[in-house]
Amino acid sequence: MPVADRPAPKEYRRPESAVLHAGAELRTGPTAPVITPIFQTAAYELPGTATAAAIFDLTEDGHAYTRLNNPTCDVLEARIAAADGAPAALAVSSGQAATTIALLNLCRAGDNIVSSDELYGGTWNLLANTFARFGVETRFVSPADPKNFAAATDERTRCWFGETLPNPKLRIFPIEDVAGLAHQAGVPLVLDNTLLPMVCRPLEFGADVLVYSATKYIGGHGSALGGLIVDGGTFDWTRHAARHPLLTEPDPAHGGVVWTETGAGLGSALGRSPYLLKARETLLRDLGSCLSPFNAFLLIQGIETLPLRMRAHGENAAAVARFLAAHPAVASVRHPSLAGQEELLGRYLGGNGGPLVQFELTGGQPAGRRFIEALRLFAHVTNIGDVRSLATHPASTTHAQLPEADQLAAGVTPGSIRLSLGLEHADDLLEDLAQALERAR
Ligand code: PLP
Repeated sequence: MPVADRPAPKEYRRPESAVLHAGAELRTGPTAPVITPIFQTAAYELPGTATAAAIFDLTEDGHAYTRLNNPTCDVLEARIAAADGAPAALAVSSGQAATTIALLNLCRAGDNIVSSDELYGGTWNLLANTFARFGVETRFVSPADPKNFAAATDERTRCWFGETLPNPKLRIFPIEDVAGLAHQAGVPLVLDNTLLPMVCRPLEFGADVLVYSATKYIGGHGSALGGLIVDGGTFDWTRHAARHPLLTEPDPAHGGVVWTETGAGLGSALGRSPYLLKARETLLRDLGSCLSPFNAFLLIQGIETLPLRMRAHGENAAAVARFLAAHPAVASVRHPSLAGQEELLGRYLGGNGGPLVQFELTGGQPAGRRFIEALRLFAHVTNIGDVRSLATHPASTTHAQLPEADQLAAGVTPGSIRLSLGLEHADDLLEDLAQALERAR
């Protein structure tokens, strides 16, 4: 059968296949490309006035303008949705844009969010300062006791938020316990799964919405920023209608539509998630933080090898954590593969402790600085998720703008060093660490 006539596979049960094939409907036509093409266009010629009106009225699928959707971005969305076992996803310009849109989609001034206090520094700032200036309050609680989330919740709470593996605290989030309490309270659990794509599938354990910085592991090459929001499609907005009026009451931001009653006529993923349909058609439309099709193409190149890379990152991180834990110049090491988190490591992460290691030298901050400067193979970079190994000092970089108490809550001590383990040979990494530890003494 010629490629052009071959039906596109519709269903992928296993994530390893989904990241290679989902969205392959584009591989049709007389010159069917194997690789997803880049639709490098701002706008699309509309098929006719009636169809154009139907697209804008959300009764028909289609593309009008790349700020709202784009066929290359559609493929990336299909891949992450299939990988997470979700009906729909939304691609945006960065991880920060993903968190902003995912949460503001549920909140207006006067509402509040209950969030874990174990967060990436940029997210802490977004919630504690920028959202607060919009009139959306965030109540930070420790996830060590899931009941803390319920205790901080009131009638204006719209969602709970956390990170599956907080960067850089590396303490696994108690997903099922918190999700169970969230659903009793009538709020969705939104989790940032940036550190663990394909390793942890939080929707299976009760999380409702996921956000990703695709800049990190999904891309893997460190060459493009991007963000993704994934809707598990399981949260019952209408059952908790009074708590979620933005989804269940007429929305003046889109001609008075009720999002939970809209999109049923759409055959695409757009119709399977009222939550993401609203996010795309109001916030993405208004804030304009859309993913460029070129970056979507680069991120698709990355996501295809994600399962293999996540396995290798986890193995290298575990080897480095074991090495550091046995080294006399190291005061403490954090990695989920070390003693203490066995139960959640097995239950949620399939035994893969993830790609990051945090540690502290016995010589404190001065030794930490000497150590970073002595590294040869590791690059000194405030990023994670590259195929190359990276090292950084969070207290003076990623978390520098947090007050000290909030730095400590997030797991950042003055002398701690964060390693993002790449795909080099483990022995080369250990040799570089050994020589840098020696020179940092
Ligand atoms: N979430 C986590 C856990 C991160 O580590 C980061 C960035 O470092 C972000 C979100 C923000 O992502 P981006 O830099 O793509 O905006």
